[in-house]
Amino acid sequence: MQNPFETEERKTFRDTLANFVATEITPFADAWDEAGEIPWVLHEKIGALGVFGFGIDAAYGGLGFDDCFMRAAYNEELAKCGATGIGAALGGRTISIGPIQDLARPEIKARVLSDIVSGRRGSSLAITEPSGGSDVARMTTTARRDGADYVINGAKTFITGGMRSDYFVVGARTGEGGLKGISLFFLDATTPGFSRTPLSRKMGWWASDQATLYFDNCRVPASHLMGEENRGFLAIMTNFNYERLGMVAGMLGMMKVCFDDAVSWAQQRETFGTKLIRHQVIRHKIADMSARIDMVEAYLNHICQQANDGPMPVAEISKAKFSASKALEFCASEAMQILGGAGYLRGNRVERMYREVKVQAIGGGSEEIMRDLAVRQMGL
Ligand SMILES: Cc1cc2nc3c(=O)[nH]c(=O)nc-3n(C[C@H](O)[C@H](O)[C@H](O)COP(=O)(O)OP(=O)(O)OC[C@H]3O[C@@H](n4cnc5c(N)ncnc54)[C@H](O)[C@@H]3O)c2cc1C
Repeated sequence: MQNPFETEERKTFRDTLANFVATEITPFADAWDEAGEIPWVLHEKIGALGVFGFGIDAAYGGLGFDDCFMRAAYNEELAKCGATGIGAALGGRTISIGPIQDLARPEIKARVLSDIVSGRRGSSLAITEPSGGSDVARMTTTARRDGADYVINGAKTFITGGMRSDYFVVGARTGEGGLKGISLFFLDATTPGFSRTPLSRKMGWWASDQATLYFDNCRVPASHLMGEENRGFLAIMTNFNYERLGMVAGMLGMMKVCFDDAVSWAQQRETFGTKLIRHQVIRHKIADMSARIDMVEAYLNHICQQANDGPMPVAEISKAKFSASKALEFCASEAMQILGGAGYLRGNRVERMYREVKVQAIGGGSEEIMRDLAVRQMGL
């Protein structure tokens, strides 16, 4: 589909990424997913393309500019490798780097940012707790001021990159109950009292690590408070916009994988004396998939343009996220149906996309929460 906002620079960025994904990731995606991890060198190789540097100052190894179209191109092209756990393994960094850039003290930024941007080190965002993720304002992990330090106690779960990251952005309660008493902290994985265990036997995203994190009297200097005390909720919500935008773009890439593999199968497979693609019912499935892909793509491009111009179109991002996960669910299901029994076998991209739909519908703000937020943003 034509993008009216395309520029030469954006096209070059996307082509470079597409080429990188096709040669450095896709041939190994199946093996890495089955193995449950990606080689660390991939963080560094893809980091060298600048993909972690959007919105990060050049002084800290970033690009010194931001562009939502390029952010989206990164997520879409990466998803086309057919194993979105690979994007997730790299992605703990992308959802935590913004708050570090915007809110961490200069000495922390100087110490860690260029390593994170280059892919040498990993970072993760730790918000969700065992007691729940949707209701962020009910967070129970605490950070108590004690002299020159804060002492953090509690637990986080489902944290992407949690087993391998060196740095964490952690949400904790510093004040009254509800959204006004939450703050963000920067935490080194070497902090005494910090420990982690892996989440295993997941439905999808096998190539990525998710962890439960434990904070047992973790003492961090007061300078590790990120932004103002008790103002963390707003920062968390602001950060979600980029995460959700990236997820919409990733889902677009997944839908295209489903479409391409379904069409290619339908062009080869014969039933009742003709190619599958000649049957009207199959042609209608392809038309329905294609229409949904176009709608998500057009909406995403429109949102990227608005986000670039500012302010962030929060209602549109929320609507795009749940619309995209519903469209993806449809495409994955129809592609599976077109592949028939072959789609049910491990090792093909459609089978994996089908399993990886649900994390898109739940993670980073579930469909239900996105609908709620959209309507609230509409002033209703
Ligand atoms: C693979 C994976 C990776 C993740 N990575 C991270 C990460 O890196 N960092 C991080 O902090 N979190 C991460 N998460 C957590 C994710 O953000 C949460 O799973 C999500 O926010 C939902 O929270 P929950 O699972 O606790 O569900 P709950 O909040 O318990 O909700 C359960 C269900 O009830 C619905 N629900 C809740 N409230 C309402 C309501 N008011 N009205 C209607 N329905 C409602 C929800 O939509 C959901 O369907 C990850 C999750 C997964 C699965």
